[in-house]
Amino acid sequence: SEEAESLHVVLFPFLARGHIPAFLRLAALLHELRPGITVTLVSTPRLLAALSLPATTPPIRLHALPFAPADHGLPPGADSLADLHVHQFITFFQASESLRPAFEGFISGIRSPVCIIADAFFAWTADVARARGAFHAVFLTGGAFGFSVFFSVWEHLPHTLAAAGDEFPLPDFPSVVLHRTQIPRYMLSATGDDPWTAYFRRVITFCRKTDAVLVNTVQELESSGLDMLRRNFSVQPWPIGPILAAPTASESQDDSSIIRWLDARPPRSVLYISFGSQNTINADQMAELALGLEASGRPFLWVLRPPLGLDATDGFRPEWLPAGFEERTARANRGLLVRGWAPQVRILAHASTGAFMSHCGWNSILESLCHGVPLIGWPLGAEQFFNAKLVVEWGVCVEVARGNMDSSAVARGAVAEALRTVMGETEKGDDMRRNAGVISGAMAAAWEGRRGSSAASLEGFLRCVETSA
Ligand code: UDP
Repeated sequence: SEEAESLHVVLFPFLARGHIPAFLRLAALLHELRPGITVTLVSTPRLLAALSLPATTPPIRLHALPFAPADHGLPPGADSLADLHVHQFITFFQASESLRPAFEGFISGIRSPVCIIADAFFAWTADVARARGAFHAVFLTGGAFGFSVFFSVWEHLPHTLAAAGDEFPLPDFPSVVLHRTQIPRYMLSATGDDPWTAYFRRVITFCRKTDAVLVNTVQELESSGLDMLRRNFSVQPWPIGPILAAPTASESQDDSSIIRWLDARPPRSVLYISFGSQNTINADQMAELALGLEASGRPFLWVLRPPLGLDATDGFRPEWLPAGFEERTARANRGLLVRGWAPQVRILAHASTGAFMSHCGWNSILESLCHGVPLIGWPLGAEQFFNAKLVVEWGVCVEVARGNMDSSAVARGAVAEALRTVMGETEKGDDMRRNAGVISGAMAAAWEGRRGSSAASLEGFLRCVETSA
């Protein structure tokens, strides 16, 4: 029957809050380009239940795979990275492969031609695709440069090589020179025999078996990162970004009160501060940041998360901020503190927002630059250090600190100085705003009228899938 012949795309995002929205948006784009296809999003029952799906027609099908975190020594019900402490992450990554038999069962029950589009961390699905004769693609929700460097570092552990000083080139990309402070904490102690290295080297091996790589980036912005991916994986990367998530609402505070507060500030005057959906800074850093903000005299909107190692089960504790900070801030109406989750996309789109202090997660970078907002970078983990390096090279970011280990201190003076550079009437600040505007234009052009480079790339990818079916 016709139904049995039309393409069935199976999307399999990793079990992390920051990864699912981009897959949902990809589903909508696939439907737009090929109205006849079936798209199914596969995840755990709890994550699927928590989705707030846009009322798209035709709807995305959902398929739940059973997952028992407790079988792997994890808290029952912990089926997202956001539910866990960092030290449990590796167990979670390993446990996620237990979804394999159920995933295989689901794929073998589909009669029409299948295309699996999986997160890099689910690249083991390449074997499932091969056994079934299905097309397989990895969708990188991060940037091309960031992922290439991240994988290359896991593969070679360049900082452990005998010749490595504070700065060292990547063995397979010698033009990329890293500083020791750009190596994430769990990578610094990797020896090659540890579970993290073993896990990521497996991921890399599976990524090399895929038929294609979709990347949430733009050809005109990341041609060299895309070349690195092509060389490293010997597969064609398809840049289809920016794939931006639908705006989300604040959890703790009425959105309109946040927007009204921004409305009352002058254009481009406010610093927005957030470290993403799961990262946080340490207690000393939090205190220095607060004092630096006060010293700068500029308005700020800060999304507060409990400092590293402490949790907010009893709410956010006042002693996590310098004495009197909240009162002084409120009295002067200089800052707005948001606890938990903020409507980031609406904040970045607001005319009063002048800069974004960010952990340089890829979604945050895309959301900021597509609104022409320059960055103050404070990378904390994973490939964020390499994303920060890229946006510094683009001339749209200054780094104020790296990491959240005790040794990575940030001084209040440095915070105030970075704010002055980026938000003040400085030549550098002017350049950064201009560059961010150019990037914003390139991002818009990539999907403009469904004719830009990313629209063409997703179309090319689909033709490639259809030819192979
Ligand atoms: N986000 C948000 N409100 C918050 C924190 C995060 O809406 O208070 C959203 C943000 O807009 C972005 C995503 O969560 O889309 C974070 O993704 P990113 O890649 O920047 O970082 P991650 O959380 O994966 O480290």
